[in-house]
Amino acid sequence: YSSETEHDVVVIGGGPGGYVAAIKAAQEGLKTACVEKRGALGGTCLNVGCIPSKSLLNNSHIYHQINHDVKKRGIDVGDVKLNLGQMMKAKEESVSGLTKGIEFLFKKNGVDYIKGTGTLVGEHEIKVNPLEGGEVKTLKAKNIIIATGSEATPFPGLEIDEKKIVTSTGAIALTEVPKKMVVIGGGIIGLEMGSVWSRLGAEVTVVEYLGAIGGPGMDAEVSKNIQRTLGKQGIKFKTGTKVVSGSVEGETVKINVEAAKGGKEETLEADVVLVAIGRRPYTEGLGLENLDLETDERGRIVIDSEYRTKLPHIRVIGDVTFGAMLAHKAEEEGIAAVEYISKGYGHVNYGAIPSVMYTHPEVAWVGQSEQDVKASGKEYSVGTFPFSANSRAKTNLDTDGFVKFIADKETDRILGIHIVGPNAGEMIAEGVLALEYGASCEDIGRTSHAHPTLSEAFKEAAMATYSKAIHS
Ligand code: FAD
Ligand code: NAD
Repeated sequence: YSSETEHDVVVIGGGPGGYVAAIKAAQEGLKTACVEKRGALGGTCLNVGCIPSKSLLNNSHIYHQINHDVKKRGIDVGDVKLNLGQMMKAKEESVSGLTKGIEFLFKKNGVDYIKGTGTLVGEHEIKVNPLEGGEVKTLKAKNIIIATGSEATPFPGLEIDEKKIVTSTGAIALTEVPKKMVVIGGGIIGLEMGSVWSRLGAEVTVVEYLGAIGGPGMDAEVSKNIQRTLGKQGIKFKTGTKVVSGSVEGETVKINVEAAKGGKEETLEADVVLVAIGRRPYTEGLGLENLDLETDERGRIVIDSEYRTKLPHIRVIGDVTFGAMLAHKAEEEGIAAVEYISKGYGHVNYGAIPSVMYTHPEVAWVGQSEQDVKASGKEYSVGTFPFSANSRAKTNLDTDGFVKFIADKETDRILGIHIVGPNAGEMIAEGVLALEYGASCEDIGRTSHAHPTLSEAFKEAAMATYSKAIHS
């Protein structure tokens, strides 16, 4: 690129929000560049988030299953050994295959991929400090999309070294299985990464400040159910417990905890401590101050409903602004923000964004939890169906969990769907579609679902909301 060229759109950040926005903008015929400082596209999600964690979750599940779950299926295995190096290599190959795939998509769609740190220096100017050294350049842009993502929230007093005191980034790259691991924060990251290392042999204790695990948005009944199941798998939980302080003493990390309401103190020892208490917007080096762009008390860049900052040609999407910190949410916003630029309108339905936790069983939901509906004062009905009564789950010897529908009592319109169970993450797509189309439970209950499939549990839970399930 030359500093003389003006782009229609410059995207800062090449994560799921930014790379999708860049591809979409190029597809709309806009001259587009994407500035990314990591040296690889795909952002947190592909490099150190969704993808590597799911690789480890999948392969650690297979290992755990071979160790604990195949004998009853008529499979006798000999000596099972973990080759952690190979498991990490498989993870790295999935990551590099996918990040290179995005580079290919950039080329195919004609997006200029600029490796470096982007800083806003003028209303239409971005200074790029190249990753591989060399001359600092300035890009001119008619429109700018900021998609700089998020980073792990640190725990005051615990210094992250990514070896003994780790964030998720260190937790996906440990070189040996810790004997004891303490996880601070029983949200999605804590439970996913806690599951990985517990399955591979670590003694895992999760310390959660609140009375329930799962992080924001999880239905309370679901949270209880998955806590029981993960407990059976060997994870220990200390809910309603706060971490007071911690220190590294030789090879051991000592973590002092006490009841959240005050009281009894206890010291936990671990070889690795995972800090997973949430993520915060990342804007370091972005130069927001140069344009006086506003952030809120949590560091999120302030925007209007069309993703515009107070400078309307500068839009913001993904983890660095409001809403759930999810890859698919960032992607939807990437497309909508570009459509606002190219067409003048765009659309994201924030009421129908699914959440999935990739433990075993998986947890997935869309719409409101029962505690949210209750708090809203609306009259509602609930229908549930357990996987223990579903023929496919029984045949697969995989029966933990249930499907739960929450509907408006008067109209039967679906308000929320919650699943704990095998393949919940795939099954929830039907629920998202139902919510998008304003379906009632009866719409689903009267739709034929193939037999024998796990999805029959979905249909029967819907039936249980307005009528009765057949098989329970
Ligand atoms: P990011 O993916 O964070 O990308 C921002 C990019 O901008 C980064 O690559 C960064 O290097 C770059 N950047 C920042 N500043 C600059 C600058 N000034 N100049 C140039 N480049 C810059 N979400 C899911 O939906 N499903 C999951 O299964 C899931 N698993 C996760 C597991 C873990 C361990 C973690 C940590 C997160 C997970 N997430 C998951 C969340 C998901 O990763 C994020 O929601 C998503 O990556 C947000 O996308 P984004 O584009 O907003 O930001
Ligand atoms: P989170 O918000 O999901 O959970 C953090 C948990 O830590 C909460 O339960 C909170 O109560 C607890 N906590 C906060 N401070 C604490 C303290 N001092 N002591 C003990 N507990 C404390 O955050 P996360 O798990 O770090 O994940 C960060 C983001 O990444 C989330 O937005 C999440 O949605 C996203 N993510 C998504 C996926 C997925 O979609 N499968 C996977 C991983 C991460």
